[in-house]
Amino acid sequence: MHTLPFDQPGRFWKGNLHAHSTLSDGRLSLEDVCRLYAEEGYDFLSLTDHFLESYGWPIADTRLCRSEDFTTIIGAELHAGRTELGEIWHILAVGLPLDFARATPQETGPEIAARALAVGAFVAAAHPNWYSLSEGDILSLGNIDAIEIYNGVSADHNDRAESWHVADVLLGKGHRYSACACDDYHANPANHDFGRGWVWVKSESLEPDALVTALKAGHYYASTGPQIHDVRVEDGSIFVRCSPVERIWVTGIASRTRRTNGCAITEAEFNLDNFNSPFCRVTIRDVHGRQAWTNPIWLG
Ligand SMILES: [Zn+2]
Ligand SMILES: [Zn+2]
Repeated sequence: MHTLPFDQPGRFWKGNLHAHSTLSDGRLSLEDVCRLYAEEGYDFLSLTDHFLESYGWPIADTRLCRSEDFTTIIGAELHAGRTELGEIWHILAVGLPLDFARATPQETGPEIAARALAVGAFVAAAHPNWYSLSEGDILSLGNIDAIEIYNGVSADHNDRAESWHVADVLLGKGHRYSACACDDYHANPANHDFGRGWVWVKSESLEPDALVTALKAGHYYASTGPQIHDVRVEDGSIFVRCSPVERIWVTGIASRTRRTNGCAITEAEFNLDNFNSPFCRVTIRDVHGRQAWTNPIWLG
């Protein structure tokens, strides 16, 4: 249970880990993007412009957009080498230094991910479903922290927003990743991406370093709407408390599941006898079809 956020000290902070500005292919300035998230009630943002030569290797310096109740984490979407199906890698790195070294023409995706990990960043495989990443692609990135299991811009761009499949296959084989939802906001009027997915991070402070530490520890959950207030595993059962939803699932390896449904459910308890899975995770879905997901919970 120690990787879940709910019994950790502090409070939950709402943040987006993936967005773009005019420093790369976003349509709004760095300042306007930060202001939008602050006004929408977010506690923090990592502006992750495309770290590419064609944009002049931008690492967005968002420090001036910080205030008493809104902060930013320096980050970027890293690109290098090719995936198994021949696309350039997209790798999310949250918690980078402003002078993170440029990619070399020979650098591979795994190599640039390793460099980001070495400087302490929270590193996630971005939008696996959008780019048809394979299990082998994600394993090649080594000891990364997370898989972006929901990417908001993909919902309208190509209908491939959710990436749980490859994550679940890898979890079922014992590989450990946390799971983040992001909107990947570009302010392109063709896509309704703003505020479409986010994370709630449990931390004692809103300091960027504390948020990155909490993210790397898995002390967060992902949402496109509803809130998860508590999840506990005790005596072979799992307890869930949440904002009103119509369905709650506990899923595990392959087809393993427990579930309940009803009107405005706010809590549930599931017996995990004979669940026979090394992990489980909780999904909730509200009446509008919006979901929230815990990170994988490693059992036993
Ligand atoms: Zn991308
Ligand atoms: Zn992006």
